[in-house]
This record gives sequence, C-alpha cells and structure tokens, in this order.
Amino acid sequence: MTEIINIELSRLDSIEETAKIQRAADFIKEGKTVVFPTETVYGLGANGLDGVAVKKIFIAKGRPADNPLILHISDEKMLENIVTDISEAAKKLMKAFWPGPITLVLHKTGNVPDEVTAGLDTVAVRMPGHPIALRLISAAGKPVAAPSANISGKPSPTEASHVIEDLDNKVDMIIAANNSKIGLESTVIDMTLTPPVLLRPGGITKDQIEAIIGKIEIDKSITSRIQELEAVRSPGMKYRHYSPDAKMILVRGEKQNKIKKIIELADFNNAKGIKAVILATTENLDAFRGYEVLRLGASDDPEEIMANLYQCLRKCNSMKAGIILSEAFGEDELELAISNRLIRAAGYNVIEV
Ligand code: AMP
Ligand code: MG
Repeated sequence: MTEIINIELSRLDSIEETAKIQRAADFIKEGKTVVFPTETVYGLGANGLDGVAVKKIFIAKGRPADNPLILHISDEKMLENIVTDISEAAKKLMKAFWPGPITLVLHKTGNVPDEVTAGLDTVAVRMPGHPIALRLISAAGKPVAAPSANISGKPSPTEASHVIEDLDNKVDMIIAANNSKIGLESTVIDMTLTPPVLLRPGGITKDQIEAIIGKIEIDKSITSRIQELEAVRSPGMKYRHYSPDAKMILVRGEKQNKIKKIIELADFNNAKGIKAVILATTENLDAFRGYEVLRLGASDDPEEIMANLYQCLRKCNSMKAGIILSEAFGEDELELAISNRLIRAAGYNVIEV
C-alpha cells in the first residue's frame, strides 16, 4: 500500500506540513521509498547510502540495474561523505547553479553503494531547487538517491497524477504537490573529464555553463543515435526513453512545409482509422484546426515547451493516439534539451521537409 500525502507549498512552515515532511524523512531513514516533487520532475527517492533501499527504486520502476542514479543533497556539507577531488570548475558550477537543475558527475568515495552508481567509480550529484525536496533531504540527514518517478521508459512525471498512474502500490509514499516548474530532467555534466562533457541537456544550457567555466564538450549521444554496442558515457542515454504509447514522428523544416507534411500524415493515418494527435507550437494551432492537437507552447518560449512536453506525451496516451505527429525543434540553448527528449520519444523518427 502506498501512503499518499498532499503538501501545501504555501503552508510549508506550518506544524502540520513540517510533521508530514518529517514522516517522509523517517520513511527514507527506515529504508523505504518516497516519491517527492522537484523543480525538474518528480523523483523516486531512497536512502542513497543504503544499497538495499536503493534496489527498491530499480524494482519499482523496472529500471535496468546498469543505469546509475543521481544522489540528491540539501547542503554542500553532504558532499564530503560521497565525493572526492572536487575541481575548481565543479565548485564554480555549484556556486552558480545550485540549488538548481544541474547534476555534476564526480569521483565517488567508498561510502556510495554500487547500486547507486551501477558499479562506476563516479557518482552523479545534484542539489534540487524545490523547497519540499530540500526539506525532505535535510530532515533525512543523508543524500537521497532518486531517478524520475515513472515506470522506466515512460515520460517523466511532472504532476502528482502522473506518479500515481505509474507507481501507486509500488512505492511506500508519494508526496503530492504542485506541478514541476521546469518539466524536463536536469542537465548532467561529467566533471571528472577535461574538458568537462555535457551528458544530458536540461534547464541549465551549454552557454550558461561555458560562461562560468569556459569551453566544454557535448557527448555525441545527445545529438546522434547510439549504436547498441558502442561504449556510452551516460548509461541512461542508451535506453528507449520518454516514450508515449503510440508511434511518434517529428517533422523538421520550414514552417509551411512542416505544416503541410503534418497535415498530410494526419489525413493519411486518420483515413486508415489510426487516430493522429498533433503536437504543435502556439502560433501553428490555427493551421491544424479540425485535427486533434495539443499545444506545446510558444516557439519563442522554450521554457513553456519544456514545462508542457511530458504532460502532452502522457495526454496522447489518455487520448489513445494511434500516431503522434510533432513539430521538431532546433539545438540552440534550451531547444537542445527539448530536441533531445523528443527525438528519443520518437525513436529517432524524423522527417526533413
Ligand atoms: P534519471 O535520474 O532517471 O533522470 O537519470 C539519471 C541520468 O544520469 C541517467 O542518464 C544516468 O545515466 C546519468 N548518470 C547517473 N550517474 C552517472 C555517472 N556516474 N556517470 C554518468 N552518467 C550518470
Ligand atoms: Mg528518468
């Protein structure tokens, strides 16, 4: 049985809400699993120093054991116990962006169980910028290992209802709160390499990072398809990810060509009895009138698109879409994170027009 508790952000300092967070922290200390909100997506947490507790995360999600987890901390003092050799560049990123949506891969100490790192000698660490997450970790008094709180392969949850759909009766507790503001998983950067390597794009962009520490590299798995046997720096990137139930196609190109192609594909599928759902930017909604359309957000507001993306993919499931047709995005700034997730959700199905 899963205990579901609602926490009101505006009343976080009240005795009632404090007691709820304390109870959740006790669950973590007892080796149980607790889903909690973060500013990126909801996380499925357990005591990050307890290998047995961490295993429960993998079981609940159906996550492959070779895909390592991120340790979430509430205070830089927690780093001492879990990482060594923190470079000056890593310290600068922490100072600039923590708490916030960037995860640093660092050298681990022997205190971090192999279950967390999938046997690697590095560990991924983040200080989340969400008051409930920070208070929970602080009350637990230890790093909390937490991947996204979805069944492995599905879109990450940005609302409590998504978590309940995936994990009710599979975890010990779910903390339900407001929607995740950012909506895509954190940026991941490997700080053990010189120059550092961006492993996953997210809410903190390459340009923002380079403004603080200078030139970094982008791992090629971000923009191109990984061959199954190729060595992967970020093991998570090799799995089918962020996927809606239906087949999905991205259409890239100049505005009018893109619209024409999407309509052609929608008509073709609808005529065969395959329900087409279109994911479109706000300014193209009119062009798709009469079709089943979900609004991603304004094309000049990637933050809005990030915040809506997973909710749209889950909506396609509840609408029983037979095929999803989406506009494709670019690779500059925040669009890199959007494209990275969309391309994986679409299984690399991109049509250029
Ligand atoms: P999730 O928590 O589901 O958002 O996934 C965490 C991501 O961080 C995955 O893509 C992992 O492969 C990546 N990750 C975690 N630990 C490491 C590590 N030690 N080295 C490289 N990538 C990591
Ligand atoms: Mg995930």
